[in-house]
Amino acid sequence: MKRDTRLLHSGRCADDPRLVNPPVRRASTVLGESAQALYAPASGGHHYGRGGLSPNDELRAAIADLYGADHVALAPSGLASVVLALRAAIQGPGEALITDSVYKPVRRFCDEELPRLGVTPRYYDPRMGADIAGLITPATRLIALESPGSLTFEVQDIPAITAAAKAAGVPTVIDDTWSAGWLMNPLALGVDYAAQALTKYAGGHSDFLMGSVAASGEAANRLKSQETVNGLHVSPDDAFLCLRGLRTLPLRIERSGQAGLDLAVRLDAHPRVGRVLHPALPSSPDHALYARQFTAPAGCFAFTVAGASQAEGEAIAEACQLFAMGFSWGGFESLILPCDRQIIRTAVPWQADGALLRLSVGLEDVEDLWADLEAALGG
Ligand SMILES: *Cc1c(COP(=O)(O)O)cnc(C)c1O
Repeated sequence: MKRDTRLLHSGRCADDPRLVNPPVRRASTVLGESAQALYAPASGGHHYGRGGLSPNDELRAAIADLYGADHVALAPSGLASVVLALRAAIQGPGEALITDSVYKPVRRFCDEELPRLGVTPRYYDPRMGADIAGLITPATRLIALESPGSLTFEVQDIPAITAAAKAAGVPTVIDDTWSAGWLMNPLALGVDYAAQALTKYAGGHSDFLMGSVAASGEAANRLKSQETVNGLHVSPDDAFLCLRGLRTLPLRIERSGQAGLDLAVRLDAHPRVGRVLHPALPSSPDHALYARQFTAPAGCFAFTVAGASQAEGEAIAEACQLFAMGFSWGGFESLILPCDRQIIRTAVPWQADGALLRLSVGLEDVEDLWADLEAALGG
């Protein structure tokens, strides 16, 4: 079966094939018919509600199918899923190599919490490929990737980095929110733990937060154990919404990606625009790597307004009518985010040539979206 077909038929109702959608089962308590059944439920059964029942099981199964993974953990937010993956991967004190383009709240976890685990974060240039081998030492406990990176959209050479990591026996984690597991499969490229904020494209409707981590083999066992000891729980109502969103993920992400690329091309030719940070643009320094690793673009990218101050960039975002300002992305509605207040880079300084604005292109008509941007840019 083709991937599109599989996505519609995976994660179906586990105990009643007549139901197209699994029932929402709200339960903390699950009764046992015998002490034996209470302590050791039959395979696939549950003895308590923390790990979720239905449709959490079906959602895990659908995401596992998407990644070809042995196990999928669900977490109450995308941030919690990346943190879960980092905790599962890190096996002892030492150093962690973290991409400099990492999502800012994850960077904060690395700076504040990794040292408490005896792990020192070291940030590396996201455009570093096989050369990462030169940064790996006997103390390296983890390599964390995010591709493309948050706000600046650098594409990483995942096969080169995972090859170097494997040669040194170092586990790898990726934040795969941009591809949503649909435009790329990081596990097939050698990554051990693939996290994503389901909040964004998988959910697609801006009405809940959730995250997932997919892993296979030994990494899957570590993931299961971390999931259990951390007591993470996801509401079955949210799992239902997520599974529903997942059914239309390909339609939405591909449509949003096409419209985004269309707008990126037009912005690239606009006199007020400095750089367009979109890896699918043929002029992007990341284009060749992007073309090797992704099947299509997602609809989230950024651009600079040449020579504009932070205040001027923010005024442009405020002048947009259809593009509303908000921190999230991947929903049906288009968003614009002025980024200058939150960009942090320590390995490779951010080369600001003007205010940085990020777009999440939704499902509106692309001509309406372009008219909105053009009016706000004053062109
Ligand atoms: C939004 C986002 C997250 C966090 O997801 P939440 O559900 O908001 O916690 C993680 N990584 C990336 C790249 C994101 O954009």
